[in-house]
Amino acid sequence: MDLANRVSELTPSLTLAIDSKAKALRAEGVDIYSFGAGEPDFDTPEHIKIAAIESLQAGFTKYTPSSGIPELRAAISKKFQRDNNLDYKPSEIIVSNGAKQSCFNAILAVCSEGDEVIIPAPYWLSYPEMVRLAGATPVIVQTTQTNDWKITASQFEEAMSPRTKMIIINSPGNPTGSVYTKEELRAIAEVAAEEEIIILSDEIYESLTYDGAEHVSIASLTPEARDLTITVNGFSKAYAMTGWRIGYLGAPEQLAKAIDSLQSHSTSGPNSFAQKGALAALTGNQQCVSEMREEFNIRREYIYERLAAIPNITAVKPRGAFYILANISKLGLTSTNLADRLLSKANVAVVPGIAFGDDSVVRFSYATGLDVIKSGLDRFEEFCKTL
Ligand code: PMP
Repeated sequence: MDLANRVSELTPSLTLAIDSKAKALRAEGVDIYSFGAGEPDFDTPEHIKIAAIESLQAGFTKYTPSSGIPELRAAISKKFQRDNNLDYKPSEIIVSNGAKQSCFNAILAVCSEGDEVIIPAPYWLSYPEMVRLAGATPVIVQTTQTNDWKITASQFEEAMSPRTKMIIINSPGNPTGSVYTKEELRAIAEVAAEEEIIILSDEIYESLTYDGAEHVSIASLTPEARDLTITVNGFSKAYAMTGWRIGYLGAPEQLAKAIDSLQSHSTSGPNSFAQKGALAALTGNQQCVSEMREEFNIRREYIYERLAAIPNITAVKPRGAFYILANISKLGLTSTNLADRLLSKANVAVVPGIAFGDDSVVRFSYATGLDVIKSGLDRFEEFCKTL
């Protein structure tokens, strides 16, 4: 069949390929130690589930406004004010089917054919594909381990061309675990303001920061940054709600309106009762968020110490999210080769860095129990000795 260019040029997801190999091995009865997860291993907190169940039982089962129910948009507006020092009115907030859709909506609403979008690598693998689907061109800027995998304002400036329309900043970051400081963000915001570059700030891992790292919303830094930024966030990571598919964005009114129209003709409003669960998540007790963060932190300390102690492996201690990159460049294998061999020889699943635009690393997720992490790292360590 003759398919549209936009789909025939899509790169199939490498993370899913590794995942299906791991699942196939598991189905054969093999014990797999998987560091592949992109979602919290915890269950959604009970009070959130109850709110959704009660709304279902009360018949809250109809279409909602395409931009989300008013009470959730109002609660998000308060959350932005409370946690991020951001003044988005409810009319500047659009609720979507996950932060993934929020990112895609933002890119579709801003980028046209011929536009360039600056994406720091290692990146979340959907960004370049979303940019291509919008007809625009991803401009990948390689960051360095010595700079904690963060783009600098001068790298941003150098990558800019008259066609640059947007830059994507993801802090805390997937797959890097990096958290940008206020000063770093301010410098990036200043460069963006000079040329009126739109900033897509993906803050989905906001609640997961460690070692005193402070999450800062770039839009809160200056009025110019606020006017140029689309702030994306969601419920998947903070509240262990990946399957609920609720995310949101805040954007200047005119842009929010355009995104609302786009969404109204593509997916309509998000799931009605999932929105009620999300409302309970935001307005309820936030202790569940800090409990999960504490658990992630214990795993982070452990995994970093173990990886750093393996000869020929280096890593930056992540300060956010639930991922760590192991630099494998001294092992003499490509990241795909290493991930393949590690899976077939040691039953350990990791994601090859090439999926994130960097072949010198593999990604370990620590969104899995400490017992799996311990045994998996024992195996990884043994495996490295055989190379
Ligand atoms: N942004 C980043 C950086 C992510 O890692 C993810 C999830 N893997 C998302 C957005 C999408 O999250 P959601 O489940 O809300 O669509």
